[in-house]
Amino acid sequence: MINEQTVEKPKPVKKGMLDNVLEQFDHAADQIELNPNVRKILRITNTEIIINFPVRMDNGDVEIFTGYRVQHNNALGPYKGGLRFHPTVDINAARALAMWMTWKTSLAGLPYGGAKGGIQIDPSKYSSSELERITRRFTYALGENIGPEHDIPAPDVNTNAQTMAWIADTYMSTKSTSERSKNMHVVTGKPVGSGGLEGRDRATGFGVFLTIKFWAEKNKVNLNGKKFIVQGFGNVGYWSAHFLENEGAKMVGVQDAFGSIQNNDGIKVEDLFNYSKSNSGSIVDFPEASAMDGSDFFGIDCDICIPAALGNQITPKNANSIKATLIAEGANGPTDVEGEKILLERGITIIPDIMCNSGGVIGSYFEWLQNRNGELWQLDEILEKIEKKLRTTFNKVTDYADDKKVDLRTAAFALAIERIEKAYILRGIFP
Ligand code: GLU
Repeated sequence: MINEQTVEKPKPVKKGMLDNVLEQFDHAADQIELNPNVRKILRITNTEIIINFPVRMDNGDVEIFTGYRVQHNNALGPYKGGLRFHPTVDINAARALAMWMTWKTSLAGLPYGGAKGGIQIDPSKYSSSELERITRRFTYALGENIGPEHDIPAPDVNTNAQTMAWIADTYMSTKSTSERSKNMHVVTGKPVGSGGLEGRDRATGFGVFLTIKFWAEKNKVNLNGKKFIVQGFGNVGYWSAHFLENEGAKMVGVQDAFGSIQNNDGIKVEDLFNYSKSNSGSIVDFPEASAMDGSDFFGIDCDICIPAALGNQITPKNANSIKATLIAEGANGPTDVEGEKILLERGITIIPDIMCNSGGVIGSYFEWLQNRNGELWQLDEILEKIEKKLRTTFNKVTDYADDKKVDLRTAAFALAIERIEKAYILRGIFP
C-alpha cells in the first residue's frame, strides 16, 4: 500500500495568461480548421527582447530595471501594441498580451501585427523625473527594435500620453536633424499638441461603450437605468463609465488597485473621477459610496460588468457569483478559460477583449495616419470613424456567431485568425 503522506500529490498547475490565450487560439483554430503550418507559426512569437538597464535614482543610487518587448506576428503590417509599467510584467505576460494584439488588430481590419511590452516596475514608488529617466533609458536601449514602420508602442496599464511623449522625443533624438520629424509616429497615444490625436485618450472607453450599445440595440435592451460595475478606474474604466452614464446607465460599484466601493443608488462618474484625482488616483474613502470587501466585488447586483484592469480577474473562484448578464472586457484577458466556461453555461454574454477594447488601437491607427500624412483631424470626425470601424467589426462577429452557433470570443478569434491565414496562403512561407 502506498503511504499517502510520502507520495507527492501533483500540484495544481496555475494557468497564466499565456495558457489562456493559447487555449482560446487553439479552440478557434479548430473551429476554422486552420492550416497546420500557419497554426505552428501563430502559436509562437517572432521576436522577444529582454533588456536589463541601469537608471540613476533621485538619491544618486543606480537601480537596474528589466524591460520587455515581444513581437508576436507582423504578417499584416508593423507590430503594434502597448507598453505597461507593472510588477506583473514578465516574458509570459508580454507574450500573451502580444498575441492578443495580433488578433485585435487583425479583427479590426488594421494594417498591423501584434506586440506588447513594458517594464517590471511599480511606478507609484518612483518620482516623475525617475519615471522619465526610466522610460527614456528603456527607449534608448530598445533602439531600432521599435520604429514608425516596424513596431509602434502605445499606452497601456500605468503608462499615458506623457510616457509616449518621452518615448517619441528620445527615439527622435537618435535620428539626424532632417529625419526627426519623419519619426513622430514611432508611438501613438501622444499628447494632443505633440503629435497626439484628439480623442485618443477616450478611444478605448468609447469603444467599450459602443460595443455595449451595439449589443443592447441588437438585443433590444434599453441601457437607460441599467446598473453597471467597473473594475479599474483608469483611462479605460473611467471613459467607459462616462459614456454609459451619458446613456442613462448607473454605476453601482467600482474597484481599483486600492479598494472597492459600492452604492446601489448610483455613483456619479465625474464626482468619483474628480475625487480620485485629488486622492492620489485612488477611489478609496469616496464619501458617496460604501467600502466593501474586494472579494465580493464581482457579486454586486448589476446588469453589466466591465473588467477594465488586469488579466485573469474572472475565474472559477468568482464566475458563479457574477450577477451581470453582460461582461464587456475593457481589459486584456480579464476572463480565464475556466471562468469563461462557467459564464457561458450560465448564459452570460461576454464581449471579448479583442473586440471590446479595440477602440484604443483603432484610435492609434488614426493617430499614426495623421502623423504619417501630416494631417490634423477633428474630434467629431475621429469618433465617427472609430464608431464606423467598430460597428463593422461588431456586425461581422455577431453574424459569424449567429451563423456558426458559437460564442462571441470564438467568432472574433476565428475571423481574426482567418485574415492572417489568408495573408500567409497568398504570399507563401519563405524559403
Ligand atoms: N494598449 C492598448 C491595447 O491593449 C492600445 C494598443 C495600441 O494602441 O497600440 O489595445
